[in-house]
Amino acid sequence: MTYALAPHPIPSIPVAGSDLRFAVRRIYCIGRNYADHAKEMGAEVDRSAPIFFMKPADAIVIGDADVPYPSATSDLHHEVEMVVALSGGGRDIPVEHALERVYGYGVGLDLTRRDLQAAAKKKGAPWDTAKGFDHSAPVSALRPASEIGHPDDAVLSLHVNGELRQQTRTSDMVFTVAEVIHELSKFYDLAAGDLIFTGTPAGVAALQRGDRFEAELEGLATLRGTIL
Ligand code: MN
Repeated sequence: MTYALAPHPIPSIPVAGSDLRFAVRRIYCIGRNYADHAKEMGAEVDRSAPIFFMKPADAIVIGDADVPYPSATSDLHHEVEMVVALSGGGRDIPVEHALERVYGYGVGLDLTRRDLQAAAKKKGAPWDTAKGFDHSAPVSALRPASEIGHPDDAVLSLHVNGELRQQTRTSDMVFTVAEVIHELSKFYDLAAGDLIFTGTPAGVAALQRGDRFEAELEGLATLRGTIL
């Protein structure tokens, strides 16, 4: 096959402790998956209707890389989240088989143009420009589940300039990882290479140029970077 233009590079994430890379196909995100964050946003948790949105695969920023402050916002917010990487997929995946599709875990930031999201919510408009912008998905190296298992009660935290901004345990998720995969597979044919950002706890706040962030999934994954 001959392409009209050179094919674009495949976005990929390092696998910790190896020279392997995880090729990213899609990035799914779930909203309102921690009750304390839903509350701080003035929203209700609704177990009957999970909120999903997407980011482009090339929105990932690999750990220790700098993140440019995005255009068109004056209220860039951090949302620290556990990130799940899939090794397989399908549709209508039963909860009890969902974890068999997990390749591994990392930690990431669901960066958000909060001012644009608030305006979109008011108008009932889509969240794409608020959530799916360039460099909106910094993510750590992945740890394979074959090595670490499934961190269903790990401490998830974010420090900015050394100050603790967000902290929770992954056991506080409204939908567990298995339930998120099950729910998402009702809407999409999931596949190897998909990432899922699993929601953020309370404490979301603004990032400024020059801020240093450190996101951690306790003992498993760390993501550091600077907002430029
Ligand atoms: Mn989020």
